[in-house]
Amino acid sequence: MTSVSLPVDPFDLVIFGGTGDLAVRKLLPVLFKRFVDGQIRPASRIIGVARVVLDEDGYRRLVRDALGEMAAAFAQQCEAFLALMAYHPLDVRKDDGWDRFTSFVNERPNNIRVFYLSTSPGLFIDICQRLGECRLNHGTARVVLEKPLGRDLTGASEINDAVGRVFAESQIYRIDHYLGKETVQNLLVLRFGNALFEPLWSTAHIDHVQITVAETLGLGRRADYYDRYGALRDMVQNHLLQLLCMVTMEPPSSLLPDAVRDEKLKVLRALSPIDASNAARLTVRGQYRAGISEGQSVPGYLDELKDGRSSTETFVALKIEVGNWRWAGVPFYLRTGKRLPEKVSEIVVAFKPVRHSVFARGSGMPLQNKLVLRLQPDEGVKLWLTIKDPGPGGLRLRHVPLDMSFVEAFGVQQPDAYERLILDVVRGNPTLFMRRDEVEAAWRWTDPILDAWESSNEAPRPYAAGSWGPSAAVALIERDGHTWNEGND
Ligand code: NAP
Repeated sequence: MTSVSLPVDPFDLVIFGGTGDLAVRKLLPVLFKRFVDGQIRPASRIIGVARVVLDEDGYRRLVRDALGEMAAAFAQQCEAFLALMAYHPLDVRKDDGWDRFTSFVNERPNNIRVFYLSTSPGLFIDICQRLGECRLNHGTARVVLEKPLGRDLTGASEINDAVGRVFAESQIYRIDHYLGKETVQNLLVLRFGNALFEPLWSTAHIDHVQITVAETLGLGRRADYYDRYGALRDMVQNHLLQLLCMVTMEPPSSLLPDAVRDEKLKVLRALSPIDASNAARLTVRGQYRAGISEGQSVPGYLDELKDGRSSTETFVALKIEVGNWRWAGVPFYLRTGKRLPEKVSEIVVAFKPVRHSVFARGSGMPLQNKLVLRLQPDEGVKLWLTIKDPGPGGLRLRHVPLDMSFVEAFGVQQPDAYERLILDVVRGNPTLFMRRDEVEAAWRWTDPILDAWESSNEAPRPYAAGSWGPSAAVALIERDGHTWNEGND
């Protein structure tokens, strides 16, 4: 099976923070992949901006290094790709350099303009104000905002107000790369492209849902950032809640951007509140200690910090309810954390057990059907069914998956989420980006949890690196008679 990649119109992509970790590790390599695939036309330009003084050759060297082995494997295309690169040293907070930058961008008035803010969110307001003053916010201009958008509702609203003074909402692309993942879009297709699931997709037939986003890594280079945010702000407020929305939203009337985003917003507004009155029962926060991760001894979170003190959570588990007609009574268990035993992101939809078993006791019990959508590492879908164990020897029940790994099924590596999302910005399709009201609704729901934790003064529960988090997270789900889906099930 082949997939067709249509070229997009020529564009200028300005990466503010073009020398940073995200640009080097992710954005530049994924752009190269799209270039090799023929989707980026030679009239396009990719313009790095950062304070460090580099000439164009210096930036091209940095980009070549960022491409790693791909640069050698596609040597000819690499040269052509590097020819698209430009670099402008600029401190976005200072006046110098903006005139030259503006003239450069204005050299290609017909190119679609994308300003990708891959800097600390603390610079978003400055950059947008400058772009407005330079009159670079008109025509086809679009701005991409990286997460996190603020640390709370007030911070997010400040950024949204300031960006909104320069760019119309239709020009603003708030990225949540989870929405660009193949499996997340497949969730839409599974739900709305098959007659099979939708009639079962409610409290009548679904027992509970689990969403896990587990990392094996610890703090790495982003310690300062992470310690200010923690798992709830860094992962739940955006990625996990967006996944929850995709699972639970009503069928949109179409896949037009606002039709989808309106439905997600309704879910966010329907989340039952968690605050000081119930946070101790419905949330678990943890912080990793030293342990064994992927066969190596690793230090604890506090050992990785400069001053060795912090009450930031590196793990969170939550029990959530979506308070509406379709989902009343269905628990949604969400968990995410660092230094967990495996890197895995998955959604597990567990259906209610059969009402009555017609099978003899010795046959075994029919187990719950489960639909497992794996977002990483190997994207795919598994539907667990009960069947008869093949062969003679009586009727014994067996639980087996209908397994569709996308790589195996289609023989192609799925594109990275950023590949799709960046080109969606160029195409002007915001369906997979968050609208202002969605981001703010997510913060409105998250803020009271943060407040409850702060007022409780309780430290996060310790867990050993390489384990699945504090035992209280196991108790959170086992209290209701369920267990976390672990292993490759
Ligand atoms: P980073 O490695 O710290 O890079 C920051 C970039 O901004 C550098 O290129 C830096 O270069 C530039 N910069 C800083 N101050 C500047 C100024 N005053 N004027 C112009 N340029 C300036 O950060 P990052 O990890 O790439 O993250 C970028 C954004 O993506 C953040 O919002 C982050 O939360 C988000 N994000 C990152 C990741 C990730 O995996 N890295 C994942 C998800 C989201 P100079 O110092 O030379 O100016």
